[in-house]
Amino acid sequence: MKPSKHKAVLNDTICAISTPFGNGAIAIIRLSGPETFAICNTIFVQNKETIDFNNTLSHTLHYGKLFMEDQVLLDEVVIGIFRNPHSYTGEDIAEISCHGSIYIQEQLMQLLIRKGARAAKPGEFTLRAFLNGKMDLAQAEAVADLIASESSSAHKLAISQVKGGFSKDIRQLRTELLEFSSLLELELDFSEEEVEFANREKLTALLTRIRIKIDYLLASYSFGNVLKRGIPVTIIGKPNVGKSTLLNILLNEDKAIVSEIPGTTRDTIEDKIIINGICFRFIDTAGLRETTDKIETMGVERTYEKINEASIILYMFDLTESNVNDIKNSLQEIKKLSGNEEVKIILIANKIDLLVETPKSFKELSNFDTVYISAKRKENIHLITEKLIKTVKETNMQFDGNIVTNAHHYDVLTKSLQEIDETLNGMKQQQSNDLLAINIRSALHYLGEITGDITTEDILDQIFGKFCIGK
Ligand code: GDP
Repeated sequence: MKPSKHKAVLNDTICAISTPFGNGAIAIIRLSGPETFAICNTIFVQNKETIDFNNTLSHTLHYGKLFMEDQVLLDEVVIGIFRNPHSYTGEDIAEISCHGSIYIQEQLMQLLIRKGARAAKPGEFTLRAFLNGKMDLAQAEAVADLIASESSSAHKLAISQVKGGFSKDIRQLRTELLEFSSLLELELDFSEEEVEFANREKLTALLTRIRIKIDYLLASYSFGNVLKRGIPVTIIGKPNVGKSTLLNILLNEDKAIVSEIPGTTRDTIEDKIIINGICFRFIDTAGLRETTDKIETMGVERTYEKINEASIILYMFDLTESNVNDIKNSLQEIKKLSGNEEVKIILIANKIDLLVETPKSFKELSNFDTVYISAKRKENIHLITEKLIKTVKETNMQFDGNIVTNAHHYDVLTKSLQEIDETLNGMKQQQSNDLLAINIRSALHYLGEITGDITTEDILDQIFGKFCIGK
């Protein structure tokens, strides 16, 4: 089911500046649609002669002069030609590389529009790629992620999904389910005769396989989001141990308030940094402390929430004011609060500058990952970042295999799982075929939203509206 509104727009030719806004060495303006080559023919001259792009080979580059009306020279350009269906959108495409002045870019866009092209809407090139069967919806959504990717792990993830990713498996399973669905529907037509076209054992096996796949993908969602949004790292510790000072150094800017009055970090503060291509999301928290101050109580409650959310906890203490037993007790408490067995805790012993040497009792902490630093003097900070990278590598927080990162996919996978479960239960209870068929149809519908076999205008608008113009 393809929406009529989107079908209709394929008849026209769209254009957009595909490089970021601003002055650059070069800019690329892209045209896609049936009039692409005709438009280029009227504005481009090579060696003083016009050329007919309808007769040039696909995937070729053409250097020449670009003229506006009245033979006014606008720029010297290179035009890349991609002939349908072998192009990004599946249509005829020209990519005009011009010099990157904003003036030239705007003049060229206006010229193309005067010649009959239309300014593209956000994501419209990728929408066309989807409507022309060049990619499925999951791939198209991954293109948006790819453009937005900030770290190498997020990039790796988006790339694997652009290549097909998990939607291939979903499509395969959906096709099998579709066959069973038609057999079931056929049985409904012969309901008087009690024939069984759809083998129930095979159907159960298939539903179970789909269930396992969806379960795995749903479980991957929080992990995938961690990669996309950054691995959450929470810094906790008593007030005044130096948490804000450390966070400022890590983030290289003065985001948190540093002060000598205990409890001045009133709320949590978050920011991302990328170390060795891995994105970490640092969360500073109000100190762990019993308090009567109302605003601060809120901050402390947030601390508990953030402990829950963290994959890595940096537990910081002031070497001059701590004893080993207190630290061990705090660690117990944190583990209890975190509710996450897997959470990694790194101990940060701060203020080494105030001591001549580390008290012997701290040797007992050698079982724990401990880093001795001076946040104030920025000493040994690299040891923290090295530990973070090591922890990520050891605990396999890195990407491996197919992962769901998209909230829309998560939503429809959850719904399809419910339908699959209802079908399985229904079969156990010898439910009538028409009820089973309803559940299966719904499951097919939801799975189809991922592969793009089922689309509505709302879904397409929502997905492609998020893109930047020119993609
Ligand atoms: P928070 O309450 O845990 O966020 O602690 P702050 O970062 O606000 O620091 C509290 C006080 O400790 C400030 O006066 C900091 O300058 C000081 N401080 C932080 N790190 C060090 C350090 O390594 N050595 C010394 N001597 N003072 C520090």
